[in-house]
Amino acid sequence: MLLRTDILSAADGDAVSVENAAAAGDVLLVCEHASRTLPQRAGDLGLSEEALSSHIAWDPGALDLARMLSRSLDATLVAQRFSRLIYDCNRPPESPAAMPEKSEIYDIPGNHDLDVAERYARTAALYVPFHDRIDAIIAERKAAGRRTVLVTVHSFTPVYMGRHREVEVGILHDEDSRLADAMLAGAGAAFRVERNEPYGPQDGVTHTLRLHGLPSGLANVMIEVRNDLLKDEAGKQAMASYLTGLLQEGLGRISS
Ligand SMILES: [Zn+2]
Repeated sequence: MLLRTDILSAADGDAVSVENAAAAGDVLLVCEHASRTLPQRAGDLGLSEEALSSHIAWDPGALDLARMLSRSLDATLVAQRFSRLIYDCNRPPESPAAMPEKSEIYDIPGNHDLDVAERYARTAALYVPFHDRIDAIIAERKAAGRRTVLVTVHSFTPVYMGRHREVEVGILHDEDSRLADAMLAGAGAAFRVERNEPYGPQDGVTHTLRLHGLPSGLANVMIEVRNDLLKDEAGKQAMASYLTGLLQEGLGRISS
């Protein structure tokens, strides 16, 4: 089999960005859906500009929010530099959702009938380096005797399949609910906060938590914020400040 190795060109740069690498805090932030950029050779995957800037390509506002949390929590942030349309790094390679043919109401022509070589190449170019990097950072911290708390940051669309979503902040977990429970206990009334909404482990969205958090027993949580709350700077700041408090308080509860 001839393997394709040309998913990312030199001009595209690396698949992964690591920010605040020297941070001293316990939290390690991960943003799988940070970017709507497509690798040059992917073209537009047959999608309109509207689709390419919508939530199917990325989590609008999530990277900005994660950067604010990186500052407030003194936390290292690992972000994927390319759109989930080319590879969704919160899905394993065998999942149809890793390179979706359809997302919500949009058909994705450039992802139809992908052959094994193309699927392998995208996995090798985008998924493997992303999760390898997270693994390496966790291992390095462990070797240095440091604690790691895994927090993934996402946003979701307020209207999905024509239905309005009431939930504003989702606190998601898989089998280990320690941190989620502690955060939910302190959520208060500032926002409508719910457990495993608008998605849950049954939807396959806890892949990163399962890959890096559960096997080594790291406290972990996935945060989903409705993206209309992240439209402007003030909204992002308010959410960052709320989540900083919630995480700090939650971490205090589980370590005491
Ligand atoms: Zn997401």
